[in-house]
Amino acid sequence: MKQQQKILIVDDVIINLHLLDGLLKADYTVLMAKNGQQALQLAREHHPDLVLLDVVMPEMDGFAVLQALRHDARTKNIPVIFITGQDRPEDEAQGLLRGAVDYITKPLNEVIVKARVATHLKLERQRRMLESLANIDGLTELPNRRQLDQVYHGEWERARRNQLPLSVAIIDVDCFKQYNDHCGHAMGDRVLQQLAQAIAANLGRPGDLAARYGGEEFVVILPATQGQGAWQLLESMRRTVENMAIPHPASLVSHVVTISAGVASMQNGTDTPSSLLQLADQRLYHAKRSGRNCVIGDAGINSELTTALYSLG
Ligand code: GH3
Ligand code: MG
Ligand code: MG
Repeated sequence: MKQQQKILIVDDVIINLHLLDGLLKADYTVLMAKNGQQALQLAREHHPDLVLLDVVMPEMDGFAVLQALRHDARTKNIPVIFITGQDRPEDEAQGLLRGAVDYITKPLNEVIVKARVATHLKLERQRRMLESLANIDGLTELPNRRQLDQVYHGEWERARRNQLPLSVAIIDVDCFKQYNDHCGHAMGDRVLQQLAQAIAANLGRPGDLAARYGGEEFVVILPATQGQGAWQLLESMRRTVENMAIPHPASLVSHVVTISAGVASMQNGTDTPSSLLQLADQRLYHAKRSGRNCVIGDAGINSELTTALYSLG
């Protein structure tokens, strides 16, 4: 069954809560709060799709609740409709100017309430869908670069605040131009989809993220992961891809599709998000120069290439 949309109703008068609940509960999941603090807490915990908010309440009024919702990243996009006995045009203007999507005055007309609620819930569904489309890469269905940038900056701040490690890796398909030239762009697209799945499947922790960074490049973010652990994870991805044994008739390094990766980890206070990515990119470049199908990080590289690379500096 399709999941019902959630509505949070906020009113200090219990009978009003029950009245609206009665109107809406057949079609939606209804949450109820009898003051502003409770409303904010429920909104943060349950992410309702719409809030119906009374204006005049003791302690925290509806305007203050709306302002607090807008100031919290978890609730700032939730649409709010004021439902109120204040029916002067200037009250309505105030409500709309402060960012409510609609304003309904009491006494309530059942049909009007239901129709307006339905309209705003539909808009909210569409907004969420657009938001997720804007953040997802159409070919691989991984988060795209835009979402990566957001998550990466958030994780970066979190790591710094909590003094936890953070690792990032850039992965690039080896000799992919030749693959397209020999097998065709459509087969190339299919390979990118398979690789995306394999990369994502190798991530285990809740905060880990794999994104499509550009054409045939992927970025992996590994919060709370040191260099050595990150290198090992990427090395195991590299082996997974090799073992998938997707034939590559024109690769310079193997008869199957392979990947190379550069890994970098937050070391000290002098790093920035972009300098860390740059370091990963430089290491990727070294991985390509040292023969491809390998992973380079601070902790080491695979196989017998170690000596050669350390002599490169
Ligand atoms: P290297 O091992 O040095 O990375 O060589 P490469 O051929 O992979 O590198 P290069 O950057 O020269 O070429 C990348 C190629 O990736 C170019 C383009 O044909 C291919 N590519 C980029 N995006 C896509 C895509 O969305 N679909 C397909 N099929 N190919 C893509
Ligand atoms: Mg590339
Ligand atoms: Mg490449």
